[in-house]
Amino acid sequence: MLKYDSFYFQCPHCQAWLEGRNLKAELVNEAILYSDGKVLNDNLITTPQKMIMCPSCGHGFWVEHPEEPFITYEKPEAEVYSWNTWRFFGINFSDNRGKMALVNHYKTFLKKSHYDPKKEIYLRRFLWWAYNDLHRNHQHVRLKYFLNGFMSYGVWRCNRRMIIEGERLFLRNYKGFTENLKRLLALLEKHPDEQIDLELPEIYRELRQFDKAKELLEKVGSRTHFTNEMLRHSKWKDARVFMVTG
Ligand SMILES: [Zn+2]
Repeated sequence: MLKYDSFYFQCPHCQAWLEGRNLKAELVNEAILYSDGKVLNDNLITTPQKMIMCPSCGHGFWVEHPEEPFITYEKPEAEVYSWNTWRFFGINFSDNRGKMALVNHYKTFLKKSHYDPKKEIYLRRFLWWAYNDLHRNHQHVRLKYFLNGFMSYGVWRCNRRMIIEGERLFLRNYKGFTENLKRLLALLEKHPDEQIDLELPEIYRELRQFDKAKELLEKVGSRTHFTNEMLRHSKWKDARVFMVTG
């Protein structure tokens, strides 16, 4: 059974048709949640992509509210660029080069133009997640993950090498990571409506301001697995993104 509904929209510059996909909410049951708020379903991010680069002409445009007539659910007669050709700018995530390319795409968008706060928050949040993708699932480097039988030795070793190299790239780009996160924090503090649950303590934690993170977490009324885990990592002075549920 398909987990997505397809829709179709046109590039405002060259009128090429692109296929978009909406996740069917009723089928979202195996989601993985990370501490930075990124949610994956079947290894695919669930947050819709609003910034699009046309695979035909390279024009960058914004899809804020996908609705008709701009969007149609009927497949047009014309050639259609499939979702995979433009999603995340056609990047291949199976290696660190692709992950760095994604970081650079968001950095370029932010440099090229001035955005209203909502859009800037959106782009900076995605840039933050893209930096974190370099060392997301860092726990998989442990031998335990091979011994648990989650993956074969070959897959585990190959994956491990990629994560270790990703961690190195993350550290090499740490200045860009913190600059972006500080700017995102300032924007979110000014626009609390745009905050995702527990986003602020997580940002403080990842900026290594553990006391501030703990202070905010201790103010949260009802304790959940998420808040407890975040508190634990703050107490350990661990600033790395981690998997909350999955
Ligand atoms: Zn185009």
